[in-house]
Amino acid sequence: MPTENSINVDVAVLGAGPGGYAAAFHAAELGMKVALIGEDTRPGGVCLLRGCIPSKALLHVAKLIHESRDAKDWGVTFAEPKIDLARLREWKNGVVEKLTSGLMELAKRRDVQFIQGRGQFTGSQTLKIDLAEEGKGGPAQVRAENIILATGSLPAVPAAMRLDDPRVMDSTAALALADIPKRLCIIGGGYIGLESGTYYAALGSEVTVVELTDGLLPGADRDLVRVLHNHVAKHFKAIHLNTKVEKLEARTEGIAVHTSGGDVKEPVQVFDRVLVAVGRRPNSVGLGLETTKVEMTDRGFVKVDKQQRTTDPHIRAIGDIAGEPMLAHKAAREGKVAAEAIAGQPSEFDNVAIPAIVFTDPELAWCGLSETEARAQGRTVEVSRFPWAASGRAATLGRTDGLTKLLIDPRTQRVLGMGIVGAGAGELIAEGTLAVEMAAVARDIADTIHAHPTLSETVMEAAEAFFGMATHLYRPKREQQS
Ligand code: NAD
Repeated sequence: MPTENSINVDVAVLGAGPGGYAAAFHAAELGMKVALIGEDTRPGGVCLLRGCIPSKALLHVAKLIHESRDAKDWGVTFAEPKIDLARLREWKNGVVEKLTSGLMELAKRRDVQFIQGRGQFTGSQTLKIDLAEEGKGGPAQVRAENIILATGSLPAVPAAMRLDDPRVMDSTAALALADIPKRLCIIGGGYIGLESGTYYAALGSEVTVVELTDGLLPGADRDLVRVLHNHVAKHFKAIHLNTKVEKLEARTEGIAVHTSGGDVKEPVQVFDRVLVAVGRRPNSVGLGLETTKVEMTDRGFVKVDKQQRTTDPHIRAIGDIAGEPMLAHKAAREGKVAAEAIAGQPSEFDNVAIPAIVFTDPELAWCGLSETEARAQGRTVEVSRFPWAASGRAATLGRTDGLTKLLIDPRTQRVLGMGIVGAGAGELIAEGTLAVEMAAVARDIADTIHAHPTLSETVMEAAEAFFGMATHLYRPKREQQS
């Protein structure tokens, strides 16, 4: 029986990030009584409050700064930007504020009860809520027919990089923008490292990236990364590959970063701030999961099936905690699948293309099969490339440093994947995602009219290039399949 301090719902969603709130909203749309539990004052999770959204606001400012400088070559000279850090912070926080208050309103309209606090399982269908100060008065117990676990991930910090000093930051601290450090060391040349490096460099920091492997963005196709590397190398002070961080040491004058390997001439360098961005780990500890039948992998991810069902019949898991890639849009899709499956619909997470975008300058994006994966799987694919040097639109933007490529099955001519690097690649990847998901063949894209002059034509011309018939590129002709 529900008491004053406890409620009964059809679905309780633990974690209010883009996966959690999408699941909660959809479950409510499907007619269920829903509670959404999150630790922050509002829904949004890491992505909206401390990740994707604030970083993209800063990256937009970085783009503006770069473009105003580039304009000198086109006969327009602007004065060097003056950064009002307080105002910039206010603007970034304002963007977050606007979106999170919108989510509160959307929750209210759908009758989704938002509970602010930290939830812990006390059984397969019960949660104890440690209510946050602002959430006092809310229910401290939730009993649910079904629980969706959506607690996301946390930064992974290896022992060598643990130092209790505010000058050593994680991505959240970096986004707080306490100051613009003169010398910034970024450990990890992945998504967070490169995106943060891009906005800090634009704001005036000397950025040094230390990456353990032999290239930036390990896992992404090298031809795409090469274009990005060449561009960011102009804006960063240094990029050290194959380099290991042995230790961080707090000194009065800064944080000493001790490294080994790579091409580093001085193995100990001092920085005003250090950002550690070497990956994230699932947030599955301390949730009381031992009181349920949920099983986890060796790496701490919750095991799920295609309907996001865990090994406990009352619990589904979505998003970062349910496996890689740790991307908000994958979490949101999984959230919708979980809600529909709970409602008895035959939905499954059967998507074949999950777009990945690194919002650097230039942006780098891919979806479906990558060349790296095709090689690892020993799969024969034809790669059809269209360099942006041949794109009229890219020329008008002064951004011919781009490349669009399609991975095509040579037998069926089906589009299996798309990779793209260039200004605005993050928006362009949507066409590739749809093509892969809809099982388009190269002719579908080649014969679709793409507006001129746009960067989207590079997708069409990459498809045309497969037949050796791209208007703005000469390649020997290939026979068309009838
Ligand atoms: P990441 O996995 O993208 O990159 C981590 C990098 O650190 C890798 O290049 C890795 O080789 C390197 N590394 C690992 N150990 C190291 C060490 N000891 N020394 C130096 N380098 C080391 O991880 P991230 O950048 O921390 O981001 C975490 C996750 O967050 C991403 O995988 C992604 O799923 C998500 N994310 C996505 C976006 C986006 O979609 N645009 C943006 C930010 C974060």
